[in-house]
Amino acid sequence: MINYTIMQKIIDEIKKTSGDMARRGWAESNGGNISLRLNSENYACFDGLQTKSDWIKLPVAIPEIAGERFLVTGTGRFLRNIEVFPEKNIGVIEIDRKGEAWQLLWGYEPTGAPTSELPAHLLSHVSIKKKSDNQSFAFIHTHPNSVIALTYAVANLDTKSLSKILWQSHAECVVVFPQGIEFLSWKMAGSMDLGRATAEAMLRRNLAVWQFHGICGCGRNLDEAFGRIDVAEKAAEICLRVMAAGGAKQTLTDTQLRAIAANFNCPIDESLFE
Ligand SMILES: [Zn+2]
Repeated sequence: MINYTIMQKIIDEIKKTSGDMARRGWAESNGGNISLRLNSENYACFDGLQTKSDWIKLPVAIPEIAGERFLVTGTGRFLRNIEVFPEKNIGVIEIDRKGEAWQLLWGYEPTGAPTSELPAHLLSHVSIKKKSDNQSFAFIHTHPNSVIALTYAVANLDTKSLSKILWQSHAECVVVFPQGIEFLSWKMAGSMDLGRATAEAMLRRNLAVWQFHGICGCGRNLDEAFGRIDVAEKAAEICLRVMAAGGAKQTLTDTQLRAIAANFNCPIDESLFE
């Protein structure tokens, strides 16, 4: 049976996150996209709805998410409009029993489809579901200015150097993302290549930067995924300000970074110090 109270709660959650992203300047035009795998309570509230599309084949079979339902922002739709017209700009899709196709249960009024970054979202959901023992449900891709700017301003970036730069730029970073932040060199937006690389990164870390493009983050819920990206973006902004002011004259040492992580019981990825 359709539970409109729970449905409204989920819609309110995505309205809050998408509105925050738009106001931060992370979601120009149709930039940025959000997906939320529905937990058992949320899943059931979309029972009983008449389906709104045929089964539409996924570019690759993903049996690990067979039967799952996702709330996903629409392709070509603006995140800033979700607050005003949620039923036009977001939709709920269901994956078939083999993980080969999706169909629309609700939303994308009058017609539409999920974000073109659907491969990155769905493949990443496989990773985050697995690594969190089915406790993580949210995945966000967005375009924060300072993170993107950093991928132009710093030479020879890789996962180690990017993680270290951000950890050193803001003392809370090592607590929020102790496993670091994956750096992915440029790949075509919406491609399977980008989707696969992002999903692989999500097995190890909760954040991944797409060179010259943006960032992805995951979490138990949208607030956690958003918060991780927000902290990384803040650190990137501080880093750029320091560079503009003539470069760092001092910074957090490896010993201090390890001490902060230990103080908050955060399992830091030691390989990033090598
Ligand atoms: Zn993008």
